Amino acid sequence: MRNGTKHMETGPVIGEGWQKFATFLTHAGRQAPDQSGSFVNMPVERGSTVVFPSVEAMEAQGEHAYGHRLVYGAMGNPVQHRLEQVIAALEGGAHTQVVNSGLAACSVALLAFLKAGDHLLLPDSVYGPTRRFALGMLARFGVETSFYPPHADEATLRAHIKPNTAVIFAESPGSHTFEVQDIPLIARMAHGAGARLLLDNTWGIGAFQPFTHGVDVSIQALTKYPSGHADVILGSITVQRPEHWQALRRAAIELGACGAPDDCWLTLRGLKTMAVRLSQQARSAYELALWLESRPEVAYVRHPALPGCPGYALWKRDFTDASGLFGVELVEGITQDAMIAMLNGLNLFGIGVSWGGYESLVLPTSGGLTRSHKDGLPKGAAFRIQVGLENVADLKADLTRGLDGLKR
Ligand SMILES: *Cc1c(COP(=O)(O)O)cnc(C)c1O
Repeated sequence: MRNGTKHMETGPVIGEGWQKFATFLTHAGRQAPDQSGSFVNMPVERGSTVVFPSVEAMEAQGEHAYGHRLVYGAMGNPVQHRLEQVIAALEGGAHTQVVNSGLAACSVALLAFLKAGDHLLLPDSVYGPTRRFALGMLARFGVETSFYPPHADEATLRAHIKPNTAVIFAESPGSHTFEVQDIPLIARMAHGAGARLLLDNTWGIGAFQPFTHGVDVSIQALTKYPSGHADVILGSITVQRPEHWQALRRAAIELGACGAPDDCWLTLRGLKTMAVRLSQQARSAYELALWLESRPEVAYVRHPALPGCPGYALWKRDFTDASGLFGVELVEGITQDAMIAMLNGLNLFGIGVSWGGYESLVLPTSGGLTRSHKDGLPKGAAFRIQVGLENVADLKADLTRGLDGLKR
């Protein structure tokens, strides 16, 4: 798949899918002006205690603790609840719980739907800290975890499901290796086995509508594109069915999980520009991915919208757009040390974890990944690129200089 121009002619239109959210995101969560006028954005209200005019009034609020009424800041705050409404609408769900990080969104959701004696199936490509949570804390509380290949077909999935499988978790595309998963198939298998399907939908925010594909619980690291400016840590868990909301809301209250008002406010603000940021970042990333495929130093580009990427057909079937994060695998003969020297020498790409902000980043991925099924690992030196809002020609020039200087 080295002919970049060919992909341009026949490939998907990248960056336009995000435009369908532009109007919604620009208006969602805004203040309705009253007669005396009001600011466009809602104010931040910070608080722990909520005071009432009488004990009776307070107790009346307490009766709604599993809904969104407030008696205490740990149960949420007005900005958090506004953000929850926007995320629920964006994901096509009915209810959202915002929590203090994307990882907390994964762990709170797992704790809400698992109990001692249950079995959990994780995709081998799952976000590393989710794997660590399952093998650490969930194991200590009597939940058994095993890993299925992200591309498992029906027979392979069936072989991994046990009588006590209560949750099948999915993440699509997978962290670092970008396998797109067949979510409708996994949903059918999960529901047939009496299990629930939880999806980490961080990469696909908006571009993958989880509930139309059979997902029960959709998780987002709002830290990434929704907040979008590398200055917030926040997560969300969205469900559609009332019984899932009961279980999730109960877990959030029992765990004291909530989102700080300022972080929720910054995320609401970030969402206003998410469609235009993502349109640009997706386009630039796709252009760089196509160009990198044609470079002799590159063996393989892991970007779901490239026909050579595992799961391309599923991406085309189920997603309306791509985001700006992808992987690059160098040809054999380029050492890890040479790649690291190249990454260190880039001027416009920061070196760091996380993604979804306005700035470009790179991160080595070879050597540090854990997989139970070894065929999922990159063979050569590999790194991940998060494409920011810089001029794409400048980014290409920086990468060109880096690749030209690589020692073979
Ligand atoms: C970053 C990330 C998380 C965790 O989000 P934090 O807010 O950083 O805790 C979870 N899942 C995926 C896929 C991520 O990329």
